Amino acid sequence: MAETSSILDKRARLLGPNMTTFYRDPVHIIRGEGAWLWDAGGNRYLDCYNNVPHVGHAHPKVVEAITQQAATLNTHTRYLHEGILDYAERLTNTMDHRLDTMIMVCTGSEANDIALRMGRAMTGKVGIICTDNTYHGNTDLVSHMSAKRTPIGGAVDWVRKVPSPDTLNPLGGSTESQAQAFADSVQHAISELDAEGHGFGTLILDPFFANEGFPELPKGFLDPTVEVVRRAGGIIIADEVQPGFGRTGRNFWGHDRIGLAPDIVTMGKPMGNGHPVAAVVTRPEIMAEFRTRFGYFNTFGGNPVSAAAAMAVLEVLEEEKLVENARDTGDYALELLKELKHPMIADTRGAGMFMGIEFTRDGDPQGAAGFCKDLVEDMRNRGVLLHLVGRYYHGIKIRPPMCFDRSQAELLVEKLDASLKALPV
Ligand code: PMP
Repeated sequence: MAETSSILDKRARLLGPNMTTFYRDPVHIIRGEGAWLWDAGGNRYLDCYNNVPHVGHAHPKVVEAITQQAATLNTHTRYLHEGILDYAERLTNTMDHRLDTMIMVCTGSEANDIALRMGRAMTGKVGIICTDNTYHGNTDLVSHMSAKRTPIGGAVDWVRKVPSPDTLNPLGGSTESQAQAFADSVQHAISELDAEGHGFGTLILDPFFANEGFPELPKGFLDPTVEVVRRAGGIIIADEVQPGFGRTGRNFWGHDRIGLAPDIVTMGKPMGNGHPVAAVVTRPEIMAEFRTRFGYFNTFGGNPVSAAAAMAVLEVLEEEKLVENARDTGDYALELLKELKHPMIADTRGAGMFMGIEFTRDGDPQGAAGFCKDLVEDMRNRGVLLHLVGRYYHGIKIRPPMCFDRSQAELLVEKLDASLKALPV
């Protein structure tokens, strides 16, 4: 088995420089099962971060669906195949009945790119609003909405960024006033886009604000914002790449959790349990406008194998009651996490299989970034994989597969407790 250093050298030579890896000492994983991973040296890790193997690493039913279909037929999407249709029906049944048409693609970035172009096709306006500290992907268009990813040519004035609802120092006062403050900044951005002649077309946001540190927001938080957007004739995209497919435990979709009725929903990562499949779901009139204007075609999106993988994920979620498990085990894990004591813990929160701890040093989130980096590294060395979140990466994000169980939750918290006690403050 190759040494880590030689793999890193080879990556740099063959794949180019500046490729990110997790951890100072990157993990070389060779096998996975459920929430467990094994590295090349035979060490076992508890996967508390990777939200791609949604129903568990190497789930036998998903593997079987992929292999059976691959052994039968896989081809591009210009032939007739019922797999994509069966999937579209089953997927859209999980949503508001008006959201009943779908485009299948291969990545979340593509899905958001299409969704934004749908917004433009519907409204005829180029202006886009997003939050200021998020990630929606990496196509040229979507990069403008992803923090630290500004494309060549720099920031464009047809994209306006509004402050994300903050996690510890909210936009001000009560939840109602925060909700109003968020809506006010969206209104301000709309007025600017109008004044500059771009016009406002689309608001895109993750309804769980996952990349922003998933602040605890009540149902209805986005109501004043929706009112502002509707008054301006805009389209709302809910990016469900992270909270979708039941991850938050009590709702299948993040937008249901917060009580948002989007016009377009995008999804990816967990959808195929690791198989590259993503989708855009919308209302028929938006789909018709987009398809008529752009004649969209995607060679691989929704091919028979992708559709089979995605269908198997939905089936496993239902058969194994994994959304209920996310709720129950998530509640249990959060309860245990909240018992952890450490002078830098500022808040512990989450929903279902999406949890985290936010740290501050003397009340300053930025001051906790170095500590969090060390914590994540130390946890890796203790055999638990988790990662960073927040504006300054001053928190840890815990996002295990949906099959995570109570004993694994206990192990996570036991290791975290030991790590917090061991690390210098
Ligand atoms: N949206 C969100 C909220 C994401 O977190 C990501 C990926 N981290 C994407 C979109 C992009 O997905 P992909 O990497 O599949 O293009």
